Amino acid sequence: MSSAHPTPQGQRPARPRKQEQESAEREVREVAPNVLRMQLPIAMPGLGHVNMYALVDERGAAVVDPGLPTPASWKAVKDRLRQAGLRPKHVHTVIVTHSHPDHFGGAARLARESGAQVVAHRSFRFGVVEAAAQDAEISVDDLAAAADAVSDEVQRRILDGWKHRTPWGGQHPRPPFRMRLRWRLARWLGRAFVPTVTKPVRAEEVLRLGGREWVIRHTPGHTEDHICLHDPADGVFLSGDHVLPTITPHISGLALSKDPLATFFASLDEVAAIPDVKLVLPAHGHPFTDLAARCAAIKQHHYDRLDTVRRIGRELGPATVQAFSRRLFRPRSWGEMAESETYAHLEHLRLAGAATARRDAQGFLIYETG
Ligand SMILES: [Zn+2]
Ligand SMILES: [Zn+2]
Repeated sequence: MSSAHPTPQGQRPARPRKQEQESAEREVREVAPNVLRMQLPIAMPGLGHVNMYALVDERGAAVVDPGLPTPASWKAVKDRLRQAGLRPKHVHTVIVTHSHPDHFGGAARLARESGAQVVAHRSFRFGVVEAAAQDAEISVDDLAAAADAVSDEVQRRILDGWKHRTPWGGQHPRPPFRMRLRWRLARWLGRAFVPTVTKPVRAEEVLRLGGREWVIRHTPGHTEDHICLHDPADGVFLSGDHVLPTITPHISGLALSKDPLATFFASLDEVAAIPDVKLVLPAHGHPFTDLAARCAAIKQHHYDRLDTVRRIGRELGPATVQAFSRRLFRPRSWGEMAESETYAHLEHLRLAGAATARRDAQGFLIYETG
């Protein structure tokens, strides 16, 4: 699903396993006073676990990113909470860093079981549902209202939405059959897995949780609605997928921003400039310390990729996004995600004056790089 990370070509196949790929450990670790790291299982390309953080206080706990909407993940949520002497009913707040299912998936269930408040950025929306609704000309509210008794007609219009074209030409692939089936089931059962955000937040708002004051940082790039949480008193920083220890987050070209890569760079610069961060707690992988250095390394990765895109352009001559992406990514990563990231890089070059684009007779964008 959406938060996987395509593997760039040119990396050695025998490279050591990335931290983010390690499978979920059962053990709960206190990574800072009253901050517990709890690993939940996920199986997505390039990812083996997601970190749910519990911020423990006298009222119970707030949790950050409670995993996928699956029975296996829910079992792990209960197991990890139990190890900390907690039960789902003790969770008074769920914070969702961004709109990917491995982060928000457990939120709706926790909210149902405990009445927990759900905190996310005010622009939170689940892209696939929203895009489908847009394409089918159904409002997201109507989609939610239809959750209990969705008609075949609405279903058909949602699924027909996937016949539309991507911005760079070519068809959107239909979502996998199992995912469509799961939606259908979820809606029949009246159990939409996309949570209702009861406390929408914006940049610079302060949340008092786990005995700390957390400042919300809005960090669009990986998604438009991504937030990080910063505790300036102790220098603790919850980075979500914005800054990961050994992989770079997927940057989608299917974003509201005209130049998603520039937006991501600006968000990296913003967090790199935060003074006195001592501990970074990412959504995948282990805690780390040097936030600014990791931001610089991620930017460098993208600068290298931009150079590679230009080199590919010189070799290919005028070419489609798909042709660029098939040179940029390994065959196992080929598909819409790889194309979407390639499109983001090509658009960044075009807006910087380093590439041109035109549409051919079939509607495909043809890029030429200098
Ligand atoms: Zn993620
Ligand atoms: Zn993500």
